[in-house]
Amino acid sequence: MTPIPILMYHQIDVAPIKGTPMRGLVVSPGSFWRHMAAMKALGYLGLSMSDLEPYLSGEKTGKVFGITFDDGYENNLMHALPVLRQMRFTSTCYVVGKLIGRTNVWDQAKGIEQKQLMTVAQMQEWVNQGQEIGSHTLTHCNLTEVDAQRLVCEIVDSKRLLDAAVRQAHGTRHFCYPYGAVNGECVRVAESAGYATATTTQRGRVQDADRRQMFLLPRVLVSRSTSWMQLLVKCITAYEDRRRTAMV
Ligand SMILES: [Zn+2]
Repeated sequence: MTPIPILMYHQIDVAPIKGTPMRGLVVSPGSFWRHMAAMKALGYLGLSMSDLEPYLSGEKTGKVFGITFDDGYENNLMHALPVLRQMRFTSTCYVVGKLIGRTNVWDQAKGIEQKQLMTVAQMQEWVNQGQEIGSHTLTHCNLTEVDAQRLVCEIVDSKRLLDAAVRQAHGTRHFCYPYGAVNGECVRVAESAGYATATTTQRGRVQDADRRQMFLLPRVLVSRSTSWMQLLVKCITAYEDRRRTAMV
């Protein structure tokens, strides 16, 4: 198979003031437009995890890439959605079940700026406009540090909660491990919960070997400093694949 990059974004917004922790994860709307336009100009189609599934399984082939957003920020709806619509791309936004309509409270202790997360109505709007909602647990905890019962709650109950809150064609089919923290038990629970895939923060593009591990999919981190040209290098060359390290 041709390696498939799955892009990992967080916020799409104007930059917080210099020195703000994690400022690098806030990509400007203009930069996001340039990333998407560059891929489109080369004939690539940007897809949500559900739309990407037949390509990941090998059922379909083509010039495609995945687009994912972690955490469920309202600014994805404000700034990314118009660009995605313009390009006719789809994407998956992984939201935190118990923090719908609230802020990224898990970041608070680290001094990271608090930003609004999508409400139920906004998530439905996101879906109605052709995008997808996935699960990013209930509380954005580190799944490798919780007990067995909590692990099941975070993975299974977040799916139930989102299935009930958001109307989408096939329910909540995709999962993302907070902080990329994952072990064999997390994979087993995610698989049995009824998800179709799970993404990590492991660097690299999806390769043939990853087809046997749809619950450990690598992604390509896109940050504030990633230019459109660097994005093309990350997506089209083996640059990211060479930076891959062993997991689980
Ligand atoms: Zn996250």
